[in-house]
Amino acid sequence: MSQVFEREGIAQSFIDTEEKHGAHNYHPLPVVLSKGQGVYLWDVNDKRYYDFLSAYSAVNQGHCHPRLVDVMHNQASKLALTSRAFYNDQLGPYEKYITALFDYDKVLPMNTGAEGVETAVKIARKWAYEVKKIPQDKAVILFATGNFHGRTPTAIAASTDPSSKSGFGPFLSGIETVPYNNLKALKERVESDPHIAAFIVEPIQGEAGVVLPDPDYLSIAFAICKKNNVLFIADEIQTGVGRTGANLCCDHFDIRPDMIILGKALSGGMYPVSAVLCDDEIMRVITPGTHGSTYGGNPLGCALAIEALQIIQDENLIANAKNMGRLFRENLTATIGHLKIVKEIRGMGLLNAVEINADKDSDTAWNICLAMAQEGLLAKPTHGNIIRFAPPLIIDSDQMLEACAIIASVIKRF
Ligand code: PLP
Repeated sequence: MSQVFEREGIAQSFIDTEEKHGAHNYHPLPVVLSKGQGVYLWDVNDKRYYDFLSAYSAVNQGHCHPRLVDVMHNQASKLALTSRAFYNDQLGPYEKYITALFDYDKVLPMNTGAEGVETAVKIARKWAYEVKKIPQDKAVILFATGNFHGRTPTAIAASTDPSSKSGFGPFLSGIETVPYNNLKALKERVESDPHIAAFIVEPIQGEAGVVLPDPDYLSIAFAICKKNNVLFIADEIQTGVGRTGANLCCDHFDIRPDMIILGKALSGGMYPVSAVLCDDEIMRVITPGTHGSTYGGNPLGCALAIEALQIIQDENLIANAKNMGRLFRENLTATIGHLKIVKEIRGMGLLNAVEINADKDSDTAWNICLAMAQEGLLAKPTHGNIIRFAPPLIIDSDQMLEACAIIASVIKRF
């Protein structure tokens, strides 16, 4: 299939260069991108695509948003990095802004999502020893099966996906899993072990294939944790910042987690910025010298994050995500929902998936994505037979209808 793209003139040499000189840790679609604006991407031959991946939900504000480009230029030419050895004039205002927006006392700034998860695990462990009084080195952090929290040793210790995990042991101890969306299992586990410090969960499991929980799962799971003095930590790295049609996905379920982890769209795709937010009674376990990052809280990242979050508010992107997500699901349900090849169309806001009625090992979903790319729309399969559709939140209804027509016309051919 890559030859088809090649005949259309795509620069195979870029693909060959990556193949030769880069580690083979990804399996990209054979599309070489060189420009982005709003909901669109262009390849090196100037072919235009709808971006229905948004860099795994990092570009909620759209590619190269002019306000973010301005902040990037201005702040980068003024001051980019100081380290936390000194104060800087962007960090405090950012901390004030983000804690007010998400309603927590404190934030701990980091860079990538996986670092945010590592940070949350460290805070939860220290809280377990100092506040919950779990005996030293006995704290357990529970994760949900099917999770994705990144690629670092802690995250893969928590993973139940063999392709993330195999070959990377021995794994960190004190990390355990309970079945996702299973309240009975969570209750039994939490009630039977006083050493459980925290339960870390994605409100919707994005990488697992946009897996939605039962409507009461999160609120009851939260109540179970509260009753047993277990921290409820939501990994909102993919679901937060408006993606699901709410500021946080947990807002849909009327819960306020003890701690939230944000990343990705926090900087609108400009630069890695992540954050862990919680109240003083938890965050006060972190003292000078116990945690840090050279780049975490740098002036450039802070300036970008304020602007990225403000754009979500100014452009009403939360409401738009809700409306455009509904349009997406209604349109595709009407046009292709009845087809045998379509197992399910699901999602919340603009985090959606079409599950293809094919074996996980088959290449049907991959071939659908290749065909959609040829028709000018980029999306990627996750877990073999599930295609995630997550455009920037700025997409309008004309663009959404055009994109849905492309998706439907391609899927009808399979
Ligand atoms: N947590 C969730 C829910 C994610 O979806 C991801 C990335 O896809 C991560 C953590 C890891 O983020 P990063 O790739 O920035 O380390």
